[in-house]
Parts: sequence; structure tokens; C-alpha cells
Amino acid sequence: MNPPRETSTGGWTPIAEEAERAAKVLHPDANFMPRPTRRRVLTVANQKGGVGKTTSTVNLAAGLALHGVKTLVIDLDPQGNASTALDVDHRSGTPSVYEMLIGEVSLADATQVSQQSPNLFCVPATIDLAGAEIELVSMASRESRLKEALTSEALDELGIDYVFIDCPPSLGLLTVNALSAAHEVLIPIQCEYYALEGLGQLLSNIELVQQHLNPALKVSTILLTMYDGRTKLADQVTQEVRNHFGDVVLKTIIPRSVKVSEAPGYGQTVLAYDPGSRGAMSYLDAAREVAERGVREQR
Ligand code: ATP
Ligand code: MG
Repeated sequence: MNPPRETSTGGWTPIAEEAERAAKVLHPDANFMPRPTRRRVLTVANQKGGVGKTTSTVNLAAGLALHGVKTLVIDLDPQGNASTALDVDHRSGTPSVYEMLIGEVSLADATQVSQQSPNLFCVPATIDLAGAEIELVSMASRESRLKEALTSEALDELGIDYVFIDCPPSLGLLTVNALSAAHEVLIPIQCEYYALEGLGQLLSNIELVQQHLNPALKVSTILLTMYDGRTKLADQVTQEVRNHFGDVVLKTIIPRSVKVSEAPGYGQTVLAYDPGSRGAMSYLDAAREVAERGVREQR
């Protein structure tokens, strides 16, 4: 941990520091993040379960939205975890990503505004999505149905700058739809022993999608999550991922933090639940890095 430093309120205590950090989240006017040069659509994918896909999706989205960037989360996981964390209605029968995929409702009809920010939108997942992997098999253009629903016109209408698509832990048709609809892939990697296992399979699926469905797709961002500074292993994994993927990996690493795991239980992102916590600040830093890349990079 960094040693305490003098805060703008003149104090030296950890509490004053935490208050200052919270103020950055809660009073973001002075810290606006840049809008991207062009709209960015990022699929958050890793077929390994529990690596922080949903947590990263909702907290990065909230970080951007709280700082003036209009952001849409598409919950493409039948578990509906992103919908829960953003506290949007996702009872069976609610217009959702399922109806969007089968062409029954438009993006605008399925989109809800999250209570957490007027800039934060969500297309929820209901339990109806659980059958979609099978239903999609017999449908026309089964790999591109999400892409067809996410037209530029529909996104322009809502004024969306960023779209994050939260994938289920599999490489099935839902994930293929997400990869076909996106410009970029964001891969969260947990700083643990088996973290890199299965990554090869994900990368070869991404290559297949590039070859057949979406040539412009690229792995633009890797986010290291659930870092536990007490273990040597976490540093080894971090180093290995950085050696392998270089600048694609965000500088910010998300620490393992109880606050991050508690937040969804309250229907909140960690930025709303405990804005002064280390977890909130690291997601905010990661969101700022994502935003800065969106201005710098020519796509
Ligand atoms: P799934 O594959 O099931 O969709 P996922 O990849 O979306 O999982 P999450 O649901 O985001 O992973 O995270 C898995 C679990 O780890 C959750 O209980 C979450 O609250 C917890 N978690 C995520 N990030 C952190 C963190 N930085 N610190 C502590 N707990 C975390
Ligand atoms: Mg998830």
C-alpha cells in the first residue's frame, strides 16, 4: 500500500484519503472521461467461469457512465448477473436480449436505464435466454443475430458511445454472436494458477470469427483481475500475461476485494456501493485507461 500522503483537505489520515477517493467517483464533473473518437463495441469474453467478466463489464461501464460517457451493457448470459448488478428488471417476460435475438423487439424496446447513472443503459438477460443456444441453431444467420439488432441507427438513437457485451462462460452461439457484433474483445484474466488454461481455445475461436464473420475483430484489451498481493503466484501470472500480450494488457490491475464481491448483492456496482474502496478506484482507473485508448487509437 502507498504511504499516506497529504490530501487536498490538509489531512494525512487514511480516512481523509478514502474520502478524497470517494469524491472522485461521486463528484466526477472535474474528472470527465473522453468520449471515443468512434463508438466502441467490446465483447467481454473468457470461457473460463468466474474470472471477473461480469464484474469487469458492469464496473468499467459504470466508471465511464459516471464520467459522462454514454454506455450500454448487453447482458448475454442467461445467469443474468450483469442485470442484477445494474439492478434492472429481468424477470421472465421483460423485453430482453432474448427477444432482441429472435427479432421480436428492437434495441430501444429492450434497453433500460440503470438507476446508477442516466448515462448507463442495460439490455437485460432473463431466464428465457437459457434456451437460446439451442433455439438459435435452426435460425437463419444464427451467428449474426445480435449484430443485426445492434445497428448504428439503433445505437445512434440512444446516443451510445460504448457497448460492453457480457458473455456466458462458454464458446457457444451466444459468445459467437457477441464476437460477431463487436469491434474488440476484452479478456479478463484472473491472477491465478489456471488463468491461462483455455486461453488458447478462446484465441483460436476469435481467429475463426475473424476469418468467417468479422474480419475487423481484435483483442484490444486484457484486464488482470482478482490480484492478491500476498501471493507470489499472482505476480508470476501478471508477468507471464504481460510478457505474452504486451501493451494489450491494461496497466491497472484489479485487486481481490471483498467490497467488489459484496456490491452485486445490493444491486450495485462497487462504484456505487463503496466509492472510496480500492476496488472502486481500480475499476475507475481501468475505465479511464479504456477511455484514453478510445481517443488515441485509430480503428
Ligand atoms: P461467469 O463465468 O459465471 O459469468 P464471471 O467471469 O462473470 O463469471 P464474476 O461473476 O464477475 O465472473 O466474478 C466471479 C465471482 O468473483 C463473483 O462472486 C464476484 O463477485 C467475485 N469477484 C469478481 N471480481 C472480484 C474482485 N476483484 N475481488 C473479489 N471478488 C471478486
Ligand atoms: Mg458472468
